Amino acid sequence: MEVEGRIEEQDILIVGGGIAGLTTALGLHRLGIRSLVLESSDELRSTGFALTMWTNAWIALDALGIGDAMRAKSLPIQGCASHSISSLISSCSFSSFSTIAISFQVGCLDSSSSHTDFKLGQFESRCVKRTDLLELLERELPRESVRYSSKIVNIQESGNFKLVHLAHGSVYRAKALLGCDGVNSMVAKWMGLKSPISAGRAAIRGYVVYPEGHGFEPKLYAYFGGGVRLGFAPCDDKGVYWFCTFTPSLFKYDESERDPVKMKQFVMSKISTAHNHVLDVVERTELDSVSLAHLKFRSPWDILFGNIVKKGVCVLGDALHPMTPDLGQGACSAIEDSVVLARCLGEALSEVGDEEDYVKMEKGLDWFGRERRWRSFSLVSTAYVVGILQETDNRFVSFFRKMFLSKFTVEPFVRMADFDCGNLHLTST
Ligand SMILES: Cc1cc2nc3c(=O)[nH]c(=O)nc-3n(C[C@H](O)[C@H](O)[C@H](O)COP(=O)(O)OP(=O)(O)OC[C@H]3O[C@@H](n4cnc5c(N)ncnc54)[C@H](O)[C@@H]3O)c2cc1C
Repeated sequence: MEVEGRIEEQDILIVGGGIAGLTTALGLHRLGIRSLVLESSDELRSTGFALTMWTNAWIALDALGIGDAMRAKSLPIQGCASHSISSLISSCSFSSFSTIAISFQVGCLDSSSSHTDFKLGQFESRCVKRTDLLELLERELPRESVRYSSKIVNIQESGNFKLVHLAHGSVYRAKALLGCDGVNSMVAKWMGLKSPISAGRAAIRGYVVYPEGHGFEPKLYAYFGGGVRLGFAPCDDKGVYWFCTFTPSLFKYDESERDPVKMKQFVMSKISTAHNHVLDVVERTELDSVSLAHLKFRSPWDILFGNIVKKGVCVLGDALHPMTPDLGQGACSAIEDSVVLARCLGEALSEVGDEEDYVKMEKGLDWFGRERRWRSFSLVSTAYVVGILQETDNRFVSFFRKMFLSKFTVEPFVRMADFDCGNLHLTST
C-alpha cells in the first residue's frame, strides 16, 4: 500500500479505548511512558451498563492508583445468594478463601428453590457502572491521550515499525502496537489468530434505577436452571444491574431480535416462579437500558499455541481472551493484562544497554506474552465449562448441580479471582 501525505510518529499506539485500552494507557502513564489511544467511536463507549469486579481486578486497580476512587462509587458485595429453581434447600457460607462450612437454610427469594447463601468475607467484589470506570480512567490520563473517531483499517510492517492506517486516511508509524480492540479485533486477525467462536449463547443485560432506593442487600443474586441463568446485583443504593444468559436455539429465540420489549418479556417468562421483587427488577427497567449480546470466546488452543505477541505487536483484553461471561472475569482480567503489560514494557525500556527502543519494546511484549498466556487459557476454558454446567437442562448435570451448588457457582469465581497480577514498581528502580 502506497502511503501518501504526512505520517505521524508515535512510540506506542493502543488500538481501542475500552477498558483494556484505557487501563493500559494509564499503566504506562504511571511509569512515565507516553502512548496514544486510537478509538473508533466518536466518544467514550460503554456497552453493557455495569460489571461485577472481583478481588483480582481491585488489586490491579490499586496498582493503577484508582482502586479507592472506584470503591467510592460502588457497594461492597457481601455475599452471593444462588438459587437452583425448584428442589433441595441447602446453603453454605465462607469467611475466607479456604473455609467452606455447610449448613441448611431456607431460600429468601423464592422458597421453592434450592438456595445457597455465601458470605464473601475478605474476598472483594463490587458491581460498578462501566461509565464510572471509563470516565475515571479518561480523567486520570493526560489530555489528548485518546483520539476518537479513529478507526484502524489496516496494519503494515515497515522495517522495524508498524504503519497503522485509519479509515479517514491518517497514517501513524509506531514502534509498538497494542491491540485492545475487543472481541472482533483486527489486530488479532493481523497477527494470525483465528476468529472467536460463537458459544451458541446470548445474554440480555439491563440496568434499573430505583429513585427511592432498591432495598436489596449488597449481594450477588443468581438463579440457575431451565436453560437460563439470571443474576443481579446492586451497584449503589439506587441502581441494580441484571443479566440473563441463555441458549437462543433452545427457546427458538430470534437472535437478531433488537426489540427491548421482547427481550424483557423473554426474561420475565423464564423467571416467572421467582419472588415479585425479583420480577420487578426486570419489569421496571427502562427500554433504553436493556441490550442483547451474542457470546463468543477464543479457542483456548489458539491462546496456547497462537501468536499473541508478534514483532512488537500484541493483543490484550477481549482481543486476546474473549470469554463467556460466566465468571465475570473479562474486564477484570483485561485490567490485569494492562498492569502486567505496562510493567513488562517499563522493565524492558529501563534496561541499561545500547539496544534501540523498538528492540526493548519487543522484548517487553515477549515477557508479557509469557506471563499472560497460561492465565488467559485457564480463564477462557474455565468460563466456558462453568457456563455449560450452570445453564444446562441435562437431568444428570442438573441433579449434581443441585447437590453441589457451591462447586458450580461460587468456587470457580473464588478460584479465578484469587490472583495477584503484581504492582507497577520496576525492579530496576
Ligand atoms: C453479557 C456480558 C457480561 C459481562 N460481564 C462482565 C462482568 O461482570 N465482569 C467482567 O469483568 N467482565 C464482564 N464482561 C466482559 C467485559 O465486558 C469485557 O471483557 C470487556 O469489556 C473487554 O474490554 P476491552 O477493552 O478488551 O474490549 P471492548 O470493551 O470491546 O473495547 C474495545 C474498544 O476498541 C474499539 N475498537 C474496535 N475496533 C477498533 C478499530 N478497528 N479501531 C479503533 N478502535 C476499535 C471499540 O470501539 C471499543 O471501544 C461481560 C461481557 C458480556 C458480553
